[in-house]
Amino acid sequence: MKFGIIGLGYVGLATLCGLAKAGHEVIGVEKHIPKLEQLKGGTVPFHEPGMAEVLSEYQDAITWTDDVGLASGADYVILAVGTPSREDGSCDLSYIEAALAAFKTPQKIIIRSTVPPGTTNVLKVMYPAHTFAIVPEFLQEGRALADVLKPHRVVIGSDDLEMCEELAGIYGRLGVPLVCTSPINAEFIKYASNAFLATKISFINDLSRLADKAGADITTIADGMGLDPRIGRSFLNAGLGYGGSCFPKDMAALLHVAQENGLDLPVIRAAAETNDAQIRYLLSKLDVTRGMRVAFLGLAFKPGTDDMRDAPSIALAQQLLLQEVEVIGYDPLATWDYRQADTVEEALDGADYAILVTEWEELVNLKPEAFAGMRQPRFIDARNAWKFARDPRDVQYEGVGRMQQK
Ligand code: NAD
Repeated sequence: MKFGIIGLGYVGLATLCGLAKAGHEVIGVEKHIPKLEQLKGGTVPFHEPGMAEVLSEYQDAITWTDDVGLASGADYVILAVGTPSREDGSCDLSYIEAALAAFKTPQKIIIRSTVPPGTTNVLKVMYPAHTFAIVPEFLQEGRALADVLKPHRVVIGSDDLEMCEELAGIYGRLGVPLVCTSPINAEFIKYASNAFLATKISFINDLSRLADKAGADITTIADGMGLDPRIGRSFLNAGLGYGGSCFPKDMAALLHVAQENGLDLPVIRAAAETNDAQIRYLLSKLDVTRGMRVAFLGLAFKPGTDDMRDAPSIALAQQLLLQEVEVIGYDPLATWDYRQADTVEEALDGADYAILVTEWEELVNLKPEAFAGMRQPRFIDARNAWKFARDPRDVQYEGVGRMQQK
């Protein structure tokens, strides 16, 4: 079959790779010309393992273009454009609408972007010539291709029976559970899943503050909780809170949809508030004065990616800069607009604090000697992940919810 994919970010490019690997012909449409040129030259514009190899192996099956019209001859058009937050927290659907408006002939559209519950039904009315399905994407950055090739489940939302059956046939080959449902349920499943994971993080972060006060160790508590299969250990790591291009915006959009429906969602709202509060809580652990230097070890919102969208490191740095504290960051892949070091040692040289912001393997496993150049050896483990600092006698180490270690 032939697929047109509109928007070649993390989701679009992973989808394109998955379809090419499955033997389909793909037309990749990207309007950002520098990104398109990189792809034409065989370079993946962001860090995602395995993608460059697939693009090279299946290059004969791939057409690259910035012309949406070229995709109109495809059996399916997949929308993978961004759906960012507007100022008021609502989801900005303008990229979706612009892409749809560009088609002059009826298309079978698959929406893979994250859109709020009810969106597909509205799009059906706005663009009656097209047939719609929504197949939300659940991939995790850093393992996008692996997740597309073997997702935990595929959710297909469409009121068009023929399209549902065709898509069930295509996705059925992945051999994973399929959920075929209405568009609004499919959209809801995506938001509910992200909100649940974000809430799990905020839940443990709330308790981490109590653990600090009460003298308990939140990591041991999470380990103990996580052994219960009804709870599970994942997303129970206390620290700086969630970031990235999905959780913050999807939480805001869900709250906005609730508000439009005249409802408050106190659990979701509190989870978002806790996430903001956690940055302030971490800051309260630093006793900084003007002119001090804080080294950020890790910048990306999580290890395994160079994505800096909504990374907590930025909010943390902005607060420190307001206090006229110098910040310098090191990350194996990610870059930011503030001062950046090429090595860990350079970042730590003359620093008054070292904060572990992203739990990259190389940063988690640093030896105490790596910190030799610091002006003052003070360690804030914002991910509770540093191996070297688990010695209870280490008075200069502070994690999140681990005060009993002192
Ligand atoms: P992204 O910003 O990395 O990529 C979107 C791309 O679409 C950009 O390169 C942009 O230039 C391009 N684009 C926008 N309008 C276009 C048009 N009319 N024609 C051609 N190209 C166009 O976004 P992403 O991270 O891949 O996310 C895409 C969607 O998938 C969002 O709705 C997001 O919430 C959702 N999602 C993302 C992830 C993730 O981990 N990144 C996971 C699941 C779902």
